[in-house]
Amino acid sequence: MSASASEQTVLVTGGAGYIGSHMVRQLLTGGFNVAVFDSLSRGNRDAIPETVELIEGDLTQAEDIDAAFKGRNFDAVMHFAALAYVGESVEQPDLYYRNNVMGSLNLVDAMRKHGVNKLVFSSTCATYGTPESLPITESTPQAPINPYGQSKLMVEHVLKDYAVAYGLRSIALRYFNASGSASDGSLGERHDPETHLIPLILWEALRVKNGGDPKGTNLRVFGSDLPTPDGTCVRDYIHVEDLCSAHIKAFERMCKTPEAGAEQFNLGVNQGFSVLEVINTCSEVTGIDIQYDLVGRRAGDPAELVADASAAMQKLQWTPNYPNVRAAIEHAWQWYLEHPPESV
Ligand code: UDP
Repeated sequence: MSASASEQTVLVTGGAGYIGSHMVRQLLTGGFNVAVFDSLSRGNRDAIPETVELIEGDLTQAEDIDAAFKGRNFDAVMHFAALAYVGESVEQPDLYYRNNVMGSLNLVDAMRKHGVNKLVFSSTCATYGTPESLPITESTPQAPINPYGQSKLMVEHVLKDYAVAYGLRSIALRYFNASGSASDGSLGERHDPETHLIPLILWEALRVKNGGDPKGTNLRVFGSDLPTPDGTCVRDYIHVEDLCSAHIKAFERMCKTPEAGAEQFNLGVNQGFSVLEVINTCSEVTGIDIQYDLVGRRAGDPAELVADASAAMQKLQWTPNYPNVRAAIEHAWQWYLEHPPESV
């Protein structure tokens, strides 16, 4: 079966969230039909184009997701709906196991019941915990160090077992650090609360640009004594548009090889940037000398997470358009200049 986009309908769970909403745009641009399933508990209604059907529902309620499949024909599901704050997951693991694990279980059971057999699942490099060696390949042992990573790993196990028992075809994509905004300025990154590095650096730049005292910085660098070249954490930042294009490649792969099976791929750009390098790049892009305070490490933060994404590049025939963090920063800065957050 070929993956002619115009004949394909994809259900996007979490399509009102950060990555999900970019995915919806990219699917529409690619000619797919799209429906969104979202509780709107954390996402933004206005991130979904008006032409796209929004099925409002809660994945933890089996009847909600079951109802979404009734009377509709989906060729595949892209499953983004999940909670994704490491710190929150440590404090409230019940939320993470219920939403991420039980919610996914309800989804795959509804898919089984309604004969939908292809799933792309948002997994994470947090499933690796503190890796024994770098860069991280798909065969690096998975040993999560927080409930968020644990919840995603549990779903990966579910998908493997469902492939064997029920014939489910799935691809789990293990994201490294999703970042950036749409390159055409149509969509940005909005989290509430915002905890991510690049938005917080750019908010600080915006504060100074608006006349704020540079010395009264709100930006904190978590940890400066880590075993990395400059002592700050190193991450592999992948542009949100590149993440989304990998999902379309994953869908195409499942169409070409529809036999039951569960595969997993890392999505990153094979390059690490330290927190200080990211801040410096933000200073260059914004033209503002961004100040920061060095504070203690954040609980649950591994020192270094860098992907070996060569399997995705080869098997999905995926090539990231943005090989380093600069473009993500440029696009995010453009977005914040045009859509300044209320708190800045
Ligand atoms: N970080 C930081 N200050 C902040 C937010 C994040 O120093 O205000 C660091 C964090 O410790 C991590 C990196 O920036 O090493 C990326 O954090 P983010 O929350 O963006 O993504 P994560 O790696 O947790 O998924």
